[in-house]
Amino acid sequence: MKELRDSERSREARRIIGCLRDAGFEAVMAGGCVRDALLGRVPKDFDVATDATPASIREIFGHRRTLAFGESFGVIGVLRPKSVAGGESRARPKAKIEPTEVATFRSDGSYSDGRRPDTVRFGDMREDAERRDFTINGMFYDPLDDVLHDFVGGCSDIHDKRIRTIGEADRRFDEDKLRMLRAIRFAATLDFEIASETLHSISEHAASLSLVSGERIGAEMRRVFVADGVLSALHNFLKTGLFESTLPFLRRPAVERFAGYWRQLEYRTFETVAALLAINHSSPEVFVKEMNRMMKLSSEEVRRMRAAVERHSELLVEGAPWSTIQPIVVSRDAEFVLPVAAAVGRTEGRGLSTLENTAKRLRDSATPVDPAPLLTGDDLRMAGYSPGPNFREWLNEIRAMQLDEGLHSKDEALEWIENNGFQS
Ligand code: ATP
Ligand code: MG
Repeated sequence: MKELRDSERSREARRIIGCLRDAGFEAVMAGGCVRDALLGRVPKDFDVATDATPASIREIFGHRRTLAFGESFGVIGVLRPKSVAGGESRARPKAKIEPTEVATFRSDGSYSDGRRPDTVRFGDMREDAERRDFTINGMFYDPLDDVLHDFVGGCSDIHDKRIRTIGEADRRFDEDKLRMLRAIRFAATLDFEIASETLHSISEHAASLSLVSGERIGAEMRRVFVADGVLSALHNFLKTGLFESTLPFLRRPAVERFAGYWRQLEYRTFETVAALLAINHSSPEVFVKEMNRMMKLSSEEVRRMRAAVERHSELLVEGAPWSTIQPIVVSRDAEFVLPVAAAVGRTEGRGLSTLENTAKRLRDSATPVDPAPLLTGDDLRMAGYSPGPNFREWLNEIRAMQLDEGLHSKDEALEWIENNGFQS
């Protein structure tokens, strides 16, 4: 599988597998990278699984080239060898390369909190396959002998584009509630169907997703929102009742309306997609607030969503003066507001002339988008005006007139202030 050979990270995983094998252990690529390679996708990271214990792994690669990631679960981070990493002592920093995760084959004990196993014990490859969540994620690949180890029927589920739990769905979702969200996320990102018994079991366990932390729900939802299959994911949320634990304030009619808007959205980020969902909610502000509460968003994400929700409509006003558009265009959230405005405009059949003019202006390099102000507070003081709260107001008015090309110079601006009866 060439996806497992070509990248620097895959070569590093092969190096590690070679070292472990030379030391007499079994070692293979595991989980997500095998799935992605079988799908012809380039894996994000390459995890290694082995029968070597964490202590042996650290001994083989050296304590200074290994990190105890989750030693209780048997996961060790292995760093590249010094010569490849460029030498630690040299001051010149090299591009940072993440350590490779090397995990000891294990079998998870009982789960009493619905989140993580109470105990783990080291086991063999088959047991390690069986503790994993979905069949497509439960395969191993031996890159040295080119052998796929599939104990769980992952290969045929990849072929049929199906998400199915390893073992009995009810037990697997009982153990770890996050898996319900993962199932829907994988279906959305890979364009797979969820097997009917797996989907049915999610419906049965939906209410217990509330045991999962907002951070972990948020991490999955960010990936769902940017997936090409977001519409089918939202549909699955409605069908299973999982919305009650993630977005209880979102109802079917809003989700159905959203579909049309989403199809018109060209720039799909978590924030732009979430903003379109918010706009279709009866109260967009409440939606953003609740979403933040449920998913522990960053202040930046909330700010971007709010900007898109609150300001997109200004860009849909026919003949809007440049002075109302320019502040949006030069703001740090412009890249989120503009595509949302375009999607709303197209879906609702509203005039797009303001957006088109804006795009034209941005292309025209002769006129600066954010020219230096004609007048500043210092200029006003120098002209003999005493500072006060009206300074800001005047300056704002002058800025608007400058942008709308009613004023062209500092002198004109000062003249305007005099003529409009302001007191110095
Ligand atoms: P991606 O990194 O693209 O999200 P992935 O499959 O690599 O996909 P990770 O969360 O990185 O997902 O997990 C790595 C592997 O660990 C998975 O492929 C799966 O085999 C296993 N795994 C992850 N989370 C769980 C879980 N909650 N329950 C059981 N197994 C899991
Ligand atoms: Mg991964």
